[in-house]
Amino acid sequence: MIVMKFGGTSVGSGESILRVREIVRARASRRPVVVVSAHSGITDALLRVARAAPQGDPDVGAIAARHRAILGELELPTDLLDPMLAELGDLARGMRLVGEASPRAVDMLLSFGERCAARTVAACFRQGGLPATAIDAWDAGLRTDSDFGRAKPLPDDGRIRSCIEQVEGVPVVTGFVAKDAAGNITTLGRNGSDYSAALFGEALDAEEIQVWKDVDGVRTADPRLVPDARPIRTMSFDEASELAYYGGRVLHPATILPAMEKAIPVRVLDTTHPEAEGTVILPTYDEEGAHVRAVVHKRNVRLVTLVSPRMLAQHGFLAQVFAMAANHRVDVDLVATSEVSITMSAEQSPSLEGFARDLAAVGKVEVMDDQAMVCVVGHGIASTRGVAADVLATLAQAEIRVRAISQGAIKVNIALIVGAADVERAVQVLHARFFD
Ligand code: ASP
Ligand code: MG
Repeated sequence: MIVMKFGGTSVGSGESILRVREIVRARASRRPVVVVSAHSGITDALLRVARAAPQGDPDVGAIAARHRAILGELELPTDLLDPMLAELGDLARGMRLVGEASPRAVDMLLSFGERCAARTVAACFRQGGLPATAIDAWDAGLRTDSDFGRAKPLPDDGRIRSCIEQVEGVPVVTGFVAKDAAGNITTLGRNGSDYSAALFGEALDAEEIQVWKDVDGVRTADPRLVPDARPIRTMSFDEASELAYYGGRVLHPATILPAMEKAIPVRVLDTTHPEAEGTVILPTYDEEGAHVRAVVHKRNVRLVTLVSPRMLAQHGFLAQVFAMAANHRVDVDLVATSEVSITMSAEQSPSLEGFARDLAAVGKVEVMDDQAMVCVVGHGIASTRGVAADVLATLAQAEIRVRAISQGAIKVNIALIVGAADVERAVQVLHARFFD
């Protein structure tokens, strides 16, 4: 059994849904369970309805029209979803009448996106001769707590498996949504469908979880900077986590944790190149294969350095510094310390000003704007002799000044701060050094 998850853009038009059908059909022998998101943009549109409802302007007309248009493109009856869309309209009107959009009501409203999409996708499969049944995640056994908007799954005691086993044809399950023990509809948080896929994969002991996107998989660098960046074939969970942080728009690793805990490989695939292998994320790394996987970067970084002789042999000094960061909700990315100084990088944001002001009370503060972070990712590289030296030598040769450096303790990355003007070249020379 495999779980195949398709995101909003992959089911965003009649044409893309037809592509999904053929992708699923080609894998029918692996007993796919399909998990779908709402059509692209629908969840946002539903959220706007939820916000407008208490003020008395909850128009669901455009949302209904979009669903009918997709049904039309697929040559399915355009009234297929009418009962569901009517229910959506009733709910929006109800929210206007009571003048409130409680978290519980909002989750119920949002659920219509995935519920409609699953029905359309399943109908399209059947029309093409691929037996399939749409199923709401709660009818597939998924239960959560009652934390509306970001509900946590409850332990599964075999419920999911027995529900799924009774489904005729390919189950097309709604991502993102579930129900709590009292039967209220809940959602798992924005972009929660990947998480749904991982939960179903875990409960079903899937041999693989496939996350289908409509973009190229994970590459060795951002192709806008390095046009010949290549696809990454395999990656450990730790590596994927590092990459995601650098805007690797492909997958949020936290969402696939349930799969990793059960050692189920997660494969990221591209609907526009279905025959390509994609990138497999594995729970652990291949111990022998310590090598650089990717050179990633992040712009808009600011470097804050605090020099304070009071740090010398002081307990709790760093705790104090990080408490200040927490106070100002500054998310510190990279840290380098010596006996009397600490250098931290964080995203450029107004809250950084307050943080720097507080720091000035305990020492001399220097703030450097317009910096960027470059990160060489690969399990084992930080403890492999010569890699760090290579990184620094390569940058020195290109006359790029390194402002700070940090080696992750999990030995997966070497992160550096360079001036914003140098970031493009830094990524290019490093990529050339490790991949050419
Ligand atoms: N449709 C939901 C969202 O846009 C869930 C998802 O796409 O994963 O957040
Ligand atoms: Mg989405």
